[in-house]
Amino acid sequence: SGDAGELAPQIWEKVKDHPCYSEEAHHYFARMHVAVAPACNIQCNYCNRKYDCANESRPGVVSERLTPEQGARKVLAVAQSVPQLSVLGIAGPGDALYDWRHTKATFNLVARHLPDIKLCISTNGLALPDHVDEIVAMNIDHVTITINMVDPEIGAKIYPWVYFEHKRWTGWEAAEILHQRQMLGLDMLTARGVLVKVNSVLIPGVNDAHLADVNREVNARGAFLHNVMPLISDPAHGTYFGLSGQRGPTAQELKKVQDACEGGAKMMRHCRQCRADAVGLLGEDRGQEFTLDKLPDVIE
Ligand code: SF4
Ligand code: SF4
Repeated sequence: SGDAGELAPQIWEKVKDHPCYSEEAHHYFARMHVAVAPACNIQCNYCNRKYDCANESRPGVVSERLTPEQGARKVLAVAQSVPQLSVLGIAGPGDALYDWRHTKATFNLVARHLPDIKLCISTNGLALPDHVDEIVAMNIDHVTITINMVDPEIGAKIYPWVYFEHKRWTGWEAAEILHQRQMLGLDMLTARGVLVKVNSVLIPGVNDAHLADVNREVNARGAFLHNVMPLISDPAHGTYFGLSGQRGPTAQELKKVQDACEGGAKMMRHCRQCRADAVGLLGEDRGQEFTLDKLPDVIE
């Protein structure tokens, strides 16, 4: 697939040492996520709040939730023993932009000590337009938005509610608000030169035939990569409670949708759907070596 190798040179320059975007880099550079985002402003049918945000992670495993100070201590400890560490992402367990103060405080603490680390954020997009200025000011040059639909009719089957402007919205209206905010946030970021990757969760029978439309739309708005990820359904944990018995796609179904998207936004095919607290080279999770009880007191 070699997707990142086909990127335009100016984009390649920005992502070549980012393990998630470059298949070559993921052998040499490491990333970590810190689970400092405690809450979420929407409900996805496939999310079970007990576990990590399905934006970026397999449901069924709980991350240790950290305060910004704990998160920063963890990053510094990892940086000392994983010299390839190049990227710090915040991707859960809730939404990184809903409780923006936690995300921002963590990044600020880390950047003071590790000025060269690349920062990235993963979000459902609802709060994104409110934070674009600060995202740019803080040099966060990669943002991932999870976009599962560009049609609120389909969105209504995926999102039972969103919490927006102090109010809970449901049904078609909820999906329409989320859709508008996602498109606005995407436009604002690409206009400012921030790299935006779009994640889509493939939900068989719900958005499988629709993701090629999502691909076209996000491509037209400047997303540089599109990552179609399989729904990981775990009925034992109730991870899809919108439709009972909802299953994840087969490998062939996933490939069919990814193939249907070729020609629009570049497809990413090597995402591992890492946990919100993943640490190490891609495909490797050394998170258990860096649990809170094992961290030294490194931040004043
Ligand atoms: Fe990279 Fe995907 Fe893992 Fe995020 S979830 S660190 S994009 S491989
Ligand atoms: Fe769960 Fe993430 Fe969806 Fe929020 S955005 S409901 S944390 S899957």
